[in-house]
Amino acid sequence: MSTDSTQYARVDRVVHGQPASDGAGVRLTRVIGGAQLPDLDPFLLLDEFGTDRPEDYLAGFPDHPHRGFETVTYMLDGRMRHKDNHGNEGVLVPGSVQWMTAGRGLVHSEMPEQESGRMRGFQLWVNLPASDKMVAPKYQEFAPDRIPQVEPADGVSVKVVAGQVDGAQGPIAQPATEPVYLDITLAPDAGWQYALPDGHNAFAYVFEGDLVLGAGDDARPLAAQQLAMLGGGAVVDLRAGGDGARLLLVAGRPLREPVVRHGPFVMNTRQEVMQAFVDYQEGRF
Ligand code: FE
Repeated sequence: MSTDSTQYARVDRVVHGQPASDGAGVRLTRVIGGAQLPDLDPFLLLDEFGTDRPEDYLAGFPDHPHRGFETVTYMLDGRMRHKDNHGNEGVLVPGSVQWMTAGRGLVHSEMPEQESGRMRGFQLWVNLPASDKMVAPKYQEFAPDRIPQVEPADGVSVKVVAGQVDGAQGPIAQPATEPVYLDITLAPDAGWQYALPDGHNAFAYVFEGDLVLGAGDDARPLAAQQLAMLGGGAVVDLRAGGDGARLLLVAGRPLREPVVRHGPFVMNTRQEVMQAFVDYQEGRF
């Protein structure tokens, strides 16, 4: 072991994404939000969708409600049209991000804007603190050219959706959880160290290639479709394998509040979830 005082993050637990189906029958890989990892405060769900088969995605996600949290859609391939009951509409293109604060509620659809070709990306759900669960809905949506891309080390390329890398600031603002959301590409055998904000919960999700995460005796291999829950110190040490790697590194300040969820409603009490059902059914979203 080295004798420096750097507090390196270690892998506390590895979780494998599980095949799942959501919306009107979209096939995806559920990483957070399933039985094995119900949540990772402040994160409530992580889905990876990635397929070349139109029958896996064509049905899309027709009208459905959300209340009490944020949905983050990050597209890698393909185009998705979103439309809500407040008149907001747009198309997410490859490399774009939509950070949607559902707050007190909206009803929207997310439908593929293509009938063939590859559809690939992620949806992450980020919880809101009790004080923000009933705020007005809000969108932070950014085209690919609004997301800074930096090369902080040899063979390392990082798209900064949220957080900061080498002075490049991601466009997303959310003071409640101060999220970090990085899309990191490592060339074969390339390495990088990144210091997370103190006190954040964090995970790494590898979606291409493989890598080793952690320093010294704590180093652990991670393969594609594996999520590592991080603990210990704040400095994440990454080293790609011989084929390179691509991963999401995501972190946020934990809320440490009660979570009562039912489908698309995530509140602090059962009473609030029941109220969400009533408000939805009575058209108050
Ligand atoms: Fe949705």
